[in-house]
Amino acid sequence: MAQRLRETVALVTGASSGIGEATALQLAADGATVAIAARREDRLDELARKIRDAGAHALVVVADVSDREQAAGCVETTVGELGRLDIVVNNAGQMLLGPVAEQPAEEIDRMLALNLQGLIHVSQAALPHLRSAAQDPPRRVADLVNVSSVAGRRANAGAAVYNATKHGVGAFSEALRQEVTREHVRVSLVEPGAVATELLSHNRPEIQEASARRLGDLDPLRAQDVADAISFVVTRPRHVAVNEVLVRPTEQQ
Ligand code: NDP
Repeated sequence: MAQRLRETVALVTGASSGIGEATALQLAADGATVAIAARREDRLDELARKIRDAGAHALVVVADVSDREQAAGCVETTVGELGRLDIVVNNAGQMLLGPVAEQPAEEIDRMLALNLQGLIHVSQAALPHLRSAAQDPPRRVADLVNVSSVAGRRANAGAAVYNATKHGVGAFSEALRQEVTREHVRVSLVEPGAVATELLSHNRPEIQEASARRLGDLDPLRAQDVADAISFVVTRPRHVAVNEVLVRPTEQQ
């Protein structure tokens, strides 16, 4: 298939593993030049090598998205180095689970600062550039894709703060969509169910064990399945906006 994203620039946050890594590779295969942002430079360097080996261009942007200046900075670095910004995938996120009464305040702050505030700061910094890309060839449309979760639709005991951040992402995305869609900046929400990534590994050991028990022998999504959904969203023709994609493993209830 023709490379539908050629001559475009995409920024993917949280690109050093999991869904972000698969998405960066997919968007590069679709023809985009990809700025890949996260904190682990060695993982980003490795990914950039893979993208270049496949014949595409990549820019490594080391940034902690939970810091307001660095969140805006990864947008400015992308535009400064690559000249434009057509697509942003706000994917960086952490899922730290457990009952509210026992959750360390630091975990609460970390999720709010990254999953919600970081996503908002990246989005705000990207808006002028997306607006201007939406006026320009080759596509005359721009995309802001926010990675939420099934947890952004359905709240469950043991995930209250994560639920709050992802429900917040949903509300933010819909309101922003209404603000900018007439300018051909499409705001989309992608809501995966369980995906096999490193996400759970940042939890306290007892939480990891409980979550693994809950998932049982469920056959999870692969990161590529979500990358496919994101690629579908951003390769639609100019008059089509896919506002929301909920994608679960078939066996997930
Ligand atoms: P991973 O843990 O594999 O990836 C998370 C990414 O976020 C990493 O690249 C990590 O990079 C980055 N990240 C974490 N903290 C920061 C930070 N402070 N600044 C910048 N980047 C950061 O998990 P997933 O791929 O699963 O998660 C990606 C998104 O998908 C998240 O938003 C998550 O909530 C969502 N999601 C995941 C599901 C799943 O089951 N896996 C289900 C539904 C949604 P680094 O550590 O190098 O900074």
